[in-house]
Amino acid sequence: RSKRDGKGAFHFFEPEMDAEMRDRRELEFELRCADLDRELELHYQPIISVKTGALRGFEALVRWRNPRRGMVSPAEFIPLAEETGMIEAIGRWVLDEACRRASTWPEDLVIAVNASAVQFRQGHFAETIGQAIARSGLDPARLEIEITESVLLADTGANLAVLQRLKEIGVRIALDDFGTGYSSMSYLRRFPFSRLKIDRSFVRDIGSSRESMAIVRAIIGLGANLGIDTTAEGVETGAQLELLRQERCGEIQGFLFSPPVDGAGAAEIIASYRGNKVQVA
Ligand code: C2E
Ligand code: MG
Ligand code: MG
Ligand code: MG
Repeated sequence: RSKRDGKGAFHFFEPEMDAEMRDRRELEFELRCADLDRELELHYQPIISVKTGALRGFEALVRWRNPRRGMVSPAEFIPLAEETGMIEAIGRWVLDEACRRASTWPEDLVIAVNASAVQFRQGHFAETIGQAIARSGLDPARLEIEITESVLLADTGANLAVLQRLKEIGVRIALDDFGTGYSSMSYLRRFPFSRLKIDRSFVRDIGSSRESMAIVRAIIGLGANLGIDTTAEGVETGAQLELLRQERCGEIQGFLFSPPVDGAGAAEIIASYRGNKVQVA
């Protein structure tokens, strides 16, 4: 491209940006046309009690098996689904599938499901959850909805009312990616969360960064003082687990124990954990 108009650098990137945009549009189109029942899949990552080594349950993480592209990550298509309104149908599918699956598990296991701010904004989120519970017969106390601070940031009044409604139904609410937000602390005064999930970025550096260690310690202490459980996400090494145990972190999730696995994989994990606790001591 010529630099004739003095904007050569800008123009230089243009064709590439067009391609990116085209690809996005294509993905968006494919998502619109997707047969959710056939192409979406839930994977499940075990949540382990640090103290007892017991399996506490699983977090459901959605995958899109795109016929042409293969597995697409939620980090890629959830934002797209939020922009296009597709998140409503996807969110409903996820809730139905997660509750249905969890209802086949032993009754002491919980299922954690992620929800985004856009799902709250759509107005009938509490009803959607109520329906998923009713259809599956799952005890609502076994369902935990994971939200990020964006839910509380968006429109506090309306979203707080939805959270309150969920609490009445008996569903628990976890604050995901805790510590990465702008003012995570203030949310703790506004709603009685049942769990704080310590963001992976702090856990990753816990052994090498005094600051990360201090933050993790503070979050666990904060949870203890408020009577809220803490789960560390992204635990990958035995050394990280050891430090978390010393700090009395309640539960952990991470590749150290298992990556997210499909439904059959979750059933295998459940079978192998029955009776004999996993060795974390
Ligand atoms: P999240 O809820 O914070 O989920 C944790 C992410 O960390 C998952 O990525 C999980 O696979 C990954 N992870 C778990 N253990 C480890 C580890 O030890 N090391 C590393 N490096 N990563 C680990 P995933 O499945 O790609 O999901 C990304 C995000 O997409 C989730 O973050 C969540 O915000 C969103 N998401 C996933 N499923 C859903 C869904 O059904 N609905 C909505 N609204 N969002 C979803
Ligand atoms: Mg989560
Ligand atoms: Mg998280
Ligand atoms: Mg995260």
